[in-house]
Amino acid sequence: MTVTMTEVIEVAKTGRSRCRTCRQAIDKGALRFGEEQPSAFSDEMQMAWHHLACAARKRPAQVREALSRFEGDIPGREEVEKSLSEAEETVPAYPYAERAPTGRSKCLHCAKPIDKGALRVAVEREVEVAGMTRAGAGYLHPGCAREFTGTEDLVARLRKNSRKLGDADREELERALSE
Ligand SMILES: [Zn+2]
Ligand SMILES: [Zn+2]
Repeated sequence: MTVTMTEVIEVAKTGRSRCRTCRQAIDKGALRFGEEQPSAFSDEMQMAWHHLACAARKRPAQVREALSRFEGDIPGREEVEKSLSEAEETVPAYPYAERAPTGRSKCLHCAKPIDKGALRVAVEREVEVAGMTRAGAGYLHPGCAREFTGTEDLVARLRKNSRKLGDADREELERALSE
C-alpha cells in the first residue's frame, strides 16, 4: 500500500456528479472535493466526489490540505471551517502514532501482537463489516510501518498527526522508525 492520494477542490463543471457522502447530486457550479481512488472496474484511478461541506465532516485532514492549495472563493467558508474544526476533534488523521491501550491489537505486517503500552502506528484501511466496506484503523509496530506503508514522508506525517504524543514519546517513535 503506497499512499499517493491526490485530493482537489474545484467548481463542478456539470451537474452529473454525485456526492459519495450524502448520495445527493452535486450542482453545477458548486464546489466539490475529489479524491483519487482505485476504480472497482479497471486498473485506473478514478475521482470520488463529495460536496465540500460533506467532505469537511468526513475527511477533515484531506480537505484542510486541499483548501490550502485552492485559490478561488469559498462560498460559506465560515461553515466549512466550523465543520472542519469539529471533525478534526473526532476524525483521526492517518497515519498517527499512539500507545496501545490494550494488548489485543495485531500488527498488519508481521501479524504478531502489539504489547499494551507500546508505541504503535495506526493507518487507515478498508474493513468489511456485514458485507459493507468502511474505513477503520489498522495497527503496526513502528519497525514494520515503513515497509508496510511504503510512505516516504512517514516520519513527517506522524509528527503532524500524533498530537497526543509527548516529546519523549516522539523521540522514541522516531528511533523505532529508523531501526
Ligand atoms: Zn454531500
Ligand atoms: Zn510488526
